[in-house]
Amino acid sequence: MTVRRLFSLMILLVAMGIPFGLLEGCSSVPLTGRKQFNIIPEGEMLSMSSQQYSSFLKENKLSGDKPQTDLVKKVGGRIKAAVEQYFVSQGLEKELASYKWEFNLVESKEVNAWCMPGGKVVFYTGIMPICGDETGIAVVMGHEVAHAVAQHGAERMSQGLLVQLGGVALGAALQNKPKETQQLWMTAFGAGAQLGVLLPFSRSQESEADHLGLVFMAMAGYDPNAAVSFWQRMAQQSGGQKPPEFISTHPSDETRINDIKKLIPEALKYYKPK
Ligand SMILES: [Zn+2]
Repeated sequence: MTVRRLFSLMILLVAMGIPFGLLEGCSSVPLTGRKQFNIIPEGEMLSMSSQQYSSFLKENKLSGDKPQTDLVKKVGGRIKAAVEQYFVSQGLEKELASYKWEFNLVESKEVNAWCMPGGKVVFYTGIMPICGDETGIAVVMGHEVAHAVAQHGAERMSQGLLVQLGGVALGAALQNKPKETQQLWMTAFGAGAQLGVLLPFSRSQESEADHLGLVFMAMAGYDPNAAVSFWQRMAQQSGGQKPPEFISTHPSDETRINDIKKLIPEALKYYKPK
């Protein structure tokens, strides 16, 4: 197959939402085993991530609330240790070798949190009241870190590069179309999202992040049952203004909460209270 034919086939497959099980550029998600398509070399990913993260921190104000900031960092450290332990147990520790974890709390009314590749986490002060306490922070931290270690952003970014920018390499895209590439990046990683933690990911990625997140929080010593009340508070907060499930790319709150309830017994097997 010529490169050109392979390329058209890939676009077709992306457009049809078909997983890339048999093509190169394919890897599996830990725990769920789902195949995913990722054409971005890890080195490119991590260098863009640390650039975007540090410019985000320069343009946004860190929270002055020391106890809350410390809590975000504490929970982050515990989730990080759990993720590392999980990856070692699966023989996947190489995947985290280049991670340089950071946890920051930024002053903003936005109800949001995200984790860029390499473990670069931001919480917005707007999500803290919905978290409520340390365990609530762990629900969000587990979920966002799960998106990162399952490489959901890289997957989205790969699709974006293919469909919107013609399949060029990330470095070339950044050089030739810096604005579009940066926009693509922000959307892929949720950093530009205005509507809360749900916005930027697909439905299957969301369920996967819920699944992995519950296991990570349990391993970190947080009761995974707290995820149910967190998502209930999230649902109340959005006040029923969300679009109905069929036009949204995300599970409705009710579906999500029911799915989480089904996953809790599995997560509890990993739970060691601290
Ligand atoms: Zn999510």
